[in-house]
Amino acid sequence: RYEALAQPGKIGSLELPHRILMGSMHMGLEHDDDEMMARLCEFYRERALGGAALIITGGACVLPEGGGHMFVLTNPRHVERLSELPKAVHEVGGRIALQLYHAGRYAFSEEIGQQAVAPSPLPSRLTRETPREMTLEDIRRTIEGYANAARTAKDIGFDAIEIMGSEGYLLNQFLSPLTNHRNDEYGGDFERRMRLPLEVVEAVRPAVGPEFPIIFRMSGLDCMPGSTTPEETIQFAQALEKAGVDALNVGIGWHEAAVPTVQQVVPRGGFAGVAAFVRQHVTVPVLAANRLNVPEVANELVADGFLDFIAPARPWLADAEFAKKILEGDRDGLNVCIACNQSCLDHTLVKPYRVVSCLVNPRAGYEALRPRVKAQVKRRVAVVGGGPAGLEAARAAAERGHEVTLFERDTELGGQFRLASRIPGKDEFLETIRYYEVMLERLGVTVTMQTEPSLDQLAEFDDVIVAVGVKPKAPGIPGEDLPHVVSYQDLLMGRVQPGRNIVILGAGGIGCDVAVFLGTRRRMTPDAEAFFEEQGLPVPKPIERTITMLARSDRIGRGIGRSTRWVVRQEMQRLGVNVVPNVAMLEITQDGVRIERDGREELVPADQVVLCTGQLPQETAWTEKLPPHVRVHIVGGARDSRDINAARAIREAWMAAYDI
Ligand code: SF4
Repeated sequence: RYEALAQPGKIGSLELPHRILMGSMHMGLEHDDDEMMARLCEFYRERALGGAALIITGGACVLPEGGGHMFVLTNPRHVERLSELPKAVHEVGGRIALQLYHAGRYAFSEEIGQQAVAPSPLPSRLTRETPREMTLEDIRRTIEGYANAARTAKDIGFDAIEIMGSEGYLLNQFLSPLTNHRNDEYGGDFERRMRLPLEVVEAVRPAVGPEFPIIFRMSGLDCMPGSTTPEETIQFAQALEKAGVDALNVGIGWHEAAVPTVQQVVPRGGFAGVAAFVRQHVTVPVLAANRLNVPEVANELVADGFLDFIAPARPWLADAEFAKKILEGDRDGLNVCIACNQSCLDHTLVKPYRVVSCLVNPRAGYEALRPRVKAQVKRRVAVVGGGPAGLEAARAAAERGHEVTLFERDTELGGQFRLASRIPGKDEFLETIRYYEVMLERLGVTVTMQTEPSLDQLAEFDDVIVAVGVKPKAPGIPGEDLPHVVSYQDLLMGRVQPGRNIVILGAGGIGCDVAVFLGTRRRMTPDAEAFFEEQGLPVPKPIERTITMLARSDRIGRGIGRSTRWVVRQEMQRLGVNVVPNVAMLEITQDGVRIERDGREELVPADQVVLCTGQLPQETAWTEKLPPHVRVHIVGGARDSRDINAARAIREAWMAAYDI
C-alpha cells in the first residue's frame, strides 16, 4: 500500500479521496465534432473510472487569440461541447476541473487568425513569430476573459478550474523579465510584472464565489537564464495565496527552455524539490507532476512533505487505471509511462497535429472506437516474436478472450526494448517488458521461449500474428565483413567490447543511442564517483575513447521525435561525440572508413566500426506456405521496416489483435 498517496485531501472546498490527480494534457480531440467529442468523453470517463481523484482537462482558451486547435470559451458552440465533459465524468462518480489557458506569444498566428499578443513584442523561439504588445485595453479584456471563462466553467458543471500560468504561457510571460519589457503598471519591477496574473485571480474569485476551487499552475522554475528568481517565485506564490487560490500546481520549464524537463534523462521525481521549495512558503496544498510515473517515488515525496498531491498527465495515458492500481497496491500490473513522448507530446509538436495516444498503451485516445469487449468467437491465436509488437499482440488477443500462444526464439522477451534499455537513461523500457510479462501471465498466454515454430505447429492455429521485427541492413560497401565491423546489437548486448577509436556508420535514432551508450560507458557510475569524492579520493579518469559518427546528411537523429531529438543531440555534444555530416561512405578498411566529403576523399581512422545503417524486415515469406484456414497478420517492422518505430509496431499489433 502507498499510504501517503491513499490519504484523503482537500483543495479548497473540494474533498478528494486520495492524492492522485490527473494533470492537464491536450488530446488533439478538442473539436466541435461528434466523433472527436465521443472519444474525448470516453477518454476522461475511463480515467475517472480508473480512480483519478480529480481530472484536469487540457487547456481551454479564455479568448480567441489565446491559442488554436482547442476550445475557446467565448464560442457558445465550444462551451456546449465542453459541457459534455463534466457530464461524462460525473456519470461515473468522478470530478473534473477545466484548465483556463492563454498562450500569449506561444500562439501561432495561422491558427488564431491574427498576430499573437504578449506583454512585449519579442520574437518567440517556439513559433518563430513576433507578437504584438498588448495594450491596456487588451489587458483589461484578458482579465475579463478569465473571469467570464471561470464563471462559465462553473455554470456548465466543472468542479474546479486551473488557471494556466506556467510553461511560458501568457501569465508566465508577464512575470518574467525576459518577455516583459513593459514600463507601465504591468511591467518593470516584480510587483508590476506579477500584477496581471494577480488581477486575473482577483477577478476570477468573485466570478465563481468563495467556495469554488481555484488551482493556479505557476512556474516553479522557468529553466530560462535570467528569468524569474527563486525569491520572486516565492513572493508570487504567497501573493497568489493571498489573492485567493486554493492550490498551487508547480510547473517546470518553458517550452523554449534548453533543459530537459519531461524526457527520460530526467530522473524520476527529479523536480519535486522545486515544489517542496514553494510548499515551504505557503499554506495551500501544492501539486506537482514532472516524471512522477511510479508510486514508490511519488509516495515517498508526499510522505516526506515535498508536495501534497501528484498531478501527472502522461502516466494516465499509459494506464487508464493509474490511481486504481496504485491504491490497490498492484504495482506489478501498472503500465508505466516511459517518458518516450513518441505518441503523446510528439503528436502535438509537429504539424499536422495528430491525436495524442501512448506508445505503451495504443488504446489511449481510441477508447470509444475500440471498446473493451470480448470477441464473439474464441480463436486459437499464435504470435510469432516476443518483442514489443508481439507482446502487445499477445496481450490484446488474450484480453479479447482468445487462446493465445506466443513463440520467442530468444531466451528473453522484449526484443528491441531490451536492447534499448541498455542505453543510459532508457532503463524505463524494462518497465514495459515487466508489464507485458505480468499481463501475459494473468491473461493465461502460453509463452514458448527459444522456439521458432514450424509450419506444422502454426497450422494448428486459426490466426498467426507475425511480429518478428527487423534485422540490421548492411551499408553495402566494401569491407563491411571485416572482423572489426560490429553490429549495434552485439555492442549493446555486451557480446563485443567497445574499441578505443570507434566510428559509427549512420546517424538515425539507433546511431545516436549507440553514441550515447559508448560516450557514457567510459566512466564509473555516478554513485561510485560520488563515493570517491566523499572520501576525498581522486576520481579515476574516464576510459579514453574517440567516437565519430558518420552521417549521410545533416539530419542527425532522424526518427527521434521533436521533443527528444534536441536532448539526445545535446547529450552527444556533452559526451564529445564527433559528428561528421554529409559524407558518402566508400569503403571500410583495416584502418578506418574511407569517405568522400566536399568532393575530397579521406580516411577516418577507426579500430572498430559499428553499423547503424538501417533495418530490413525479417523474413516472412514462409507464411505463404501456411494452410488456407490460417489467417496471417504481419505487423510492425516485419511488415514494413521503413521508418519503423516502437509506437507504430505496437499500434499495428494492437489493431491486428483487436480485430480478430
Ligand atoms: Fe509516456 Fe511515451 Fe506513452 Fe507518452 S507515449 S504517455 S511518454 S509512454
